[in-house]
Amino acid sequence: MRFSKAYIPTTKEAPKDAQLPSHIYLSRAGFVTQVAAGLYNFLPMGKRVLRKIETIINEEMAACDAQEVDLSFVTPAELWEESGRIEKFGKELLRFRDRKDNLFVLGPTHEEMMVNIVRNRVTSYKQLPLNLYQIKTKFRDEARPRFGLMRGREFVMKDGYSFHSSNEDLDREFDAMEAAYKRILERLGLEFRIVEADSGAIGGTGSKELMVLAGSGEDTLAICDSCEYGANVEAARRAPRTTIPEAPQADFARFKTPNVKSIEDLSNFFHVDPYYTLKAVVQRAVYTEGSELVCFFIRGCDELQEVKARNSVGAIDLVDATEAELIEIGLVPGFIGPLDQDKIRIVMDNDTKNGVSMICGSNEADFHFVGVDLSVMNEAHFADLVSVQEGDGCPHCGGKILHTKGIEVGHIFKLGTVYSAPLKAEFLDENGRSQPFIMGTYGMGVSRLVAAVIEQHHDEKGCIWTHATAPYLVNVMVSNIKEESHMAYAEELYASLQSRGIETMLDDRKERFGFKMSDAELIGFPYTVIVGKELENGSVQIMVRATREMITVDAADVLSKIE
Ligand code: ATP
Ligand code: MG
Ligand code: MG
Ligand code: MG
Repeated sequence: MRFSKAYIPTTKEAPKDAQLPSHIYLSRAGFVTQVAAGLYNFLPMGKRVLRKIETIINEEMAACDAQEVDLSFVTPAELWEESGRIEKFGKELLRFRDRKDNLFVLGPTHEEMMVNIVRNRVTSYKQLPLNLYQIKTKFRDEARPRFGLMRGREFVMKDGYSFHSSNEDLDREFDAMEAAYKRILERLGLEFRIVEADSGAIGGTGSKELMVLAGSGEDTLAICDSCEYGANVEAARRAPRTTIPEAPQADFARFKTPNVKSIEDLSNFFHVDPYYTLKAVVQRAVYTEGSELVCFFIRGCDELQEVKARNSVGAIDLVDATEAELIEIGLVPGFIGPLDQDKIRIVMDNDTKNGVSMICGSNEADFHFVGVDLSVMNEAHFADLVSVQEGDGCPHCGGKILHTKGIEVGHIFKLGTVYSAPLKAEFLDENGRSQPFIMGTYGMGVSRLVAAVIEQHHDEKGCIWTHATAPYLVNVMVSNIKEESHMAYAEELYASLQSRGIETMLDDRKERFGFKMSDAELIGFPYTVIVGKELENGSVQIMVRATREMITVDAADVLSKIE
């Protein structure tokens, strides 16, 4: 590509709300432009990076005999009613009606659609296993779209779904997919960890997340310094302690609180806003002393559940509810803590209008707690209860646990029959019995990966693309295009690099050296060959972007330095 013909609108200014390097540099370097909150256009350079990631994914999927499909983005809401997820997904699911008044959703993930594709078509165990995937736009009306491509509302996901006749076969495929995902991230040149995870709104068991390690990651990981063990702290739970830490009173004044000062107020609060309810994940367990804390986790205000005519239950009753009662009203038990009915702490999240939350989760970005705590409740206390802490015993090898930040770029689950059973997607087994498919699901955030590369690889000058993700590996930059011999050399080098399959940009613009150089650094080509005065002595310089090191090389020897 000739730079003079390229559309790469670089700018000095970053978008006003941009905080993360990937958001700043991908915008400044002309990879993407923002349309509206959480909506982005990919410009030519951004599209090339996206395509590179997609190609690697496609190659690794082909190696596992997974087949690519392309399902309709617009999904009939009926399918979501059949699976029961239409309510669970809450406001992240964008619903709309067509001119005939039929209700549709924009696919935020495609379990239902994919089950629908095989249902009544795959009818025998002999047609299994099957692994189908797509790389496709997804829409989630995220409550807080932010950080550029990291958390968009419209984003590109690779979503794969496998169908099996036995759990053993699902286990085999799950391991194969984990290995493939690992290879994808290795090929992309990323440092990552595979961690144990919570299954979230998708459901199922045996879930693992692929986390790109970066300080800006929204997830906190507990990782072992001696073995491969890693867990998202959301999922990592250590044994309950026998003593409750003495916690100072949390400073609730810093949050905007509604007029909730008592259990009665809390109850009223939920009654006045019937859209939301406490139906969420309640975790509960018992301390050795026998005291309890019941705490309501509302998973991301974006995932708040619709009221299920359970208003009368309110929050109050739950404090005293038995485990069986909690299950009965749709709450999943399992948390630990002290119970003291005297004090209640309810906090409104500043960022969400309706969500009630308590900002003291293991993962501030994902979890919002409504805590009905009763004696102590502060951030440290919660973290202590839910997470494997730094310094603990690794549950696998006894090594030391460290906490680190990660970007969730992939999530794989063993779904079992969570979708196939309600959707009645069945096959005949070897004994002629009808069984629901046993399924796995494998997601990867393709557009988020574009940002994750930059979160892990950048400096104060801009992007540093890894070899596999670079829009062009080499940038041949001519300091002064008026020098005919320089241009002639550059053209020749450009042609020979391309003939070897090396993707190359030729910076043939009529611009100052400094201007071109800062573009080269901002865009982040791995190598920039600077063709300037030294050519007269038979040499050129190569700037290695990762280190910004300048290497002087023989003009005839450039190829050997790059390949
Ligand atoms: P998060 O915890 O970041 O909200 P998720 O757990 O809701 O992600 P999944 O349902 O597991 O996401 O979807 C599979 C993958 O899609 C994620 O691992 C992530 O890489 C990507 N993804 C999810 N939401 C977004 C988003 N809003 N913008 C970009 N990528 C996303
Ligand atoms: Mg999410
Ligand atoms: Mg997640
Ligand atoms: Mg996930």
